[in-house]
Amino acid sequence: MRENFSHDEPALIPIDIGHGAYTAIVEPDTAFWSLVLKERLAETLADEAFVGEVRKHAKSFAAEMDLLRFGLVPSAVYFNPTERCNLNCTYCYLPEQMRRHGVRMSEDRIFDALSTLLDFFRRTLPNGVRPQVIFHGAEPMLERNAIFAAIDRFADEIVFGVQTNGTLLDSEAIEFLTSRRISLGLSLDGPFSEVTDRTRRTHSGHGIHEQVVKVLEALRGYRNHAVICTLTTENLAHLGELVGLFHNLEVPTCMLNPVRCTLPGGQRVRPSDDDLALAYLGALERTEELYNETGRKLVVANFANVVLAVVAPTARRLMCDISPCGAARCFFAVDANGDLFPCSEFIGLSGFKGGNLFTGGVEGCFETDAFRSVTSRRVETIERCRDCAIRHFCGAPCPAEAHEIHGDLAQQGAYCRFYEEQLRFALRLVADGREDAYLPDGWDDATSTVFEIALNS
Ligand code: SF4
Ligand code: SF4
Repeated sequence: MRENFSHDEPALIPIDIGHGAYTAIVEPDTAFWSLVLKERLAETLADEAFVGEVRKHAKSFAAEMDLLRFGLVPSAVYFNPTERCNLNCTYCYLPEQMRRHGVRMSEDRIFDALSTLLDFFRRTLPNGVRPQVIFHGAEPMLERNAIFAAIDRFADEIVFGVQTNGTLLDSEAIEFLTSRRISLGLSLDGPFSEVTDRTRRTHSGHGIHEQVVKVLEALRGYRNHAVICTLTTENLAHLGELVGLFHNLEVPTCMLNPVRCTLPGGQRVRPSDDDLALAYLGALERTEELYNETGRKLVVANFANVVLAVVAPTARRLMCDISPCGAARCFFAVDANGDLFPCSEFIGLSGFKGGNLFTGGVEGCFETDAFRSVTSRRVETIERCRDCAIRHFCGAPCPAEAHEIHGDLAQQGAYCRFYEEQLRFALRLVADGREDAYLPDGWDDATSTVFEIALNS
């Protein structure tokens, strides 16, 4: 998807979205888009009224995009209380030695760290806004007593979440977490154990599928949980069945995330872009069918974010498909030593350590070369992406992945063609008025239409 217009005028780029009747026109700098009937494309591009309207609104569109890209301040932390994990997933971004024998943070250190983070957020967030802390992995439930104590100690000031592999959630833990409305993220990669266990298993090689499904059964009816599925060569053929399982279990939200290629384990199970797009779009369509059959949505959050990028750009919630991405801009990560990284994906990559919470506090990390190298990575400076018409719907993810694949942040990450197909699909849904089936209920409560133009038919 290449531009062929000068930037003095809005660069209106036609994009074939694979729809029978409509083509999209995108203005790359501002992510303005419009759908036009194919037979009226040339006429629309030459229509002074249309181009004039786009020109008139260009500044406000650009300001909106700039705010999203450069105006946000960090409000969340991915907090790793331990380097250890009871699982040995083949694609994990944390080195295996670390997961087996890594350091653990004591309860006192966790309390100290949260106090330091809270001081930082009190200085940087508007009054009344509570920061989010997501206990993350490795496997945070290995430090269950400490994190539960921390949740109770800081509940009034911090919004907590727990991202866990799910295998250590017994009924007591579920009761503790759900009674406090903690947001829970679990992981499951397949609809049955033969698939899940190909990538997610214990250090001794045992499968964990049934255990996680039992936990999801126990969470049925709890609205504040989600399941992450990592898409690899090992499970693409079963994604339809997998979303069927999630839907049966009344999981409200899932994420279908292509495996990150930050370590060789991830690169070994990396699917081709075409296989990935085919399986992923098939699974999305299956969620729509299930919604139509039952009236109950299973929202695929990473795709909903792309649909939001189209229909309500400022309502985007995840920050992997915008450039600069959310790393060190909207959130950052703390490892079990208190070391600060732009995002969990960078943990273990020593060149991206921006300081230590216990010895230097938080503020300074944003000024370090390590953090600045990530926050200054812009899609416009990446050779293969700078002229891409959909660069603000994709963001050339992901810097950690680009660094590990190419040894250079100023390169494209993985899955370029996949991201193109994903956006085409989102635009097709909008053309057919089907997008609501893919968005969380109430997504438009806080949005307003700032620009709408209908040409004379
Ligand atoms: S694109 Fe990569 S580095 Fe950026 S927020 Fe997403 S996972 Fe983290
Ligand atoms: S990676 Fe994204 S921004 Fe870069 S060329 Fe591909 S679709 Fe465009």
